[in-house]
Amino acid sequence: MTLKAILSNLILSRLDIARIKRILGDTPVLSVFFKLISQSLIDREYPTHLFLETTRACNLHCKSCPRSILTSGYGHMNFDLFKKIIDEAGLFGRRNFCLHMLGEPLMHPEIIKLVGYIKSSPVRHAILLTTNGYFLDAPKAKALIENRVDKIVVSIFSLRKDRLNSLTGNTDITKVVDNISSAAMLNKQLSGKTNIYIRFLLHPENQDELESVSALAKRIGVHLEVRATHNYSGLITDNSSKEVTPGKRYPCYHPWFSPAITWDGKVVLCCNDWNYSEILGDATKDTVANIWQGSRIKELRKLHLKGRYDEINLCKACNVWSLYPDIFFKMQKS
Ligand code: SF4
Ligand code: SF4
Repeated sequence: MTLKAILSNLILSRLDIARIKRILGDTPVLSVFFKLISQSLIDREYPTHLFLETTRACNLHCKSCPRSILTSGYGHMNFDLFKKIIDEAGLFGRRNFCLHMLGEPLMHPEIIKLVGYIKSSPVRHAILLTTNGYFLDAPKAKALIENRVDKIVVSIFSLRKDRLNSLTGNTDITKVVDNISSAAMLNKQLSGKTNIYIRFLLHPENQDELESVSALAKRIGVHLEVRATHNYSGLITDNSSKEVTPGKRYPCYHPWFSPAITWDGKVVLCCNDWNYSEILGDATKDTVANIWQGSRIKELRKLHLKGRYDEINLCKACNVWSLYPDIFFKMQKS
């Protein structure tokens, strides 16, 4: 495995990007190294990190999610399209796949087959699976661990039923906590290499629960990641907790690292393009490499470097960029 592949995997799949940002903010020297390393990982031939919308179905109705106002259709990614994407990625070396965009990946009827297919590749891709935890029952957790999923992140809004109901439309937190506990136990019993995380989604309504969620993660024996809810490219303005404090804007990491592919094959700029407004190409008809080297993505990168965010409908009111560290030096921006 090349050094580039190892670094890429470490930076993009194993580490908590919010924590990296905090550390870098406190230590300017590290920030210089981070920029140099990050830029060395940019691959203009094929994306380093791909979000795949394995399904657009979901069992929840989160207040912070645009699903309730979607005008586009719902569906599961079919295996042939999935296979086409993974096979092509393998030609470019080890990649990181995140198996969701706007949906609950464990609702895909063939999710274990999809995971298994990625892991059957000789180039050992990394998999991040973010879930709301309701379908992470013991057989599924076992299959994911045995298929060497690198990171499972279970997002939690609240441990209080009333608040959970208000934030997600569901009250069964016991089921989610039981599922995480049994997944953690199975990982230990099977000597699995899966990193299991609780991701506490900080929202203006749940900030007082950080301590109790942190205690829960410790008790169960999983990692804790704290992520501020964001505004989904400007759509949901009451999401932004004080942790998303944009300040002076800088280019977002997505146009250089991480596009998303929707369940029906559209390659979009990022996983926050909930209504498919910045379509770069169609993976059912073209290669992802061609699309990633195409004119629109080049134009979008230029606009980001020049600070002309207002000219991109999708990006102009977004605050997600601020969740990632700035990867460019001042002289590279104009
Ligand atoms: S945020 Fe995730 S879990 Fe909640 S409704 Fe949206 S897709 Fe479903
Ligand atoms: S600024 Fe927001 S919408 Fe634009 S690429 Fe970044 S995350 Fe996506």
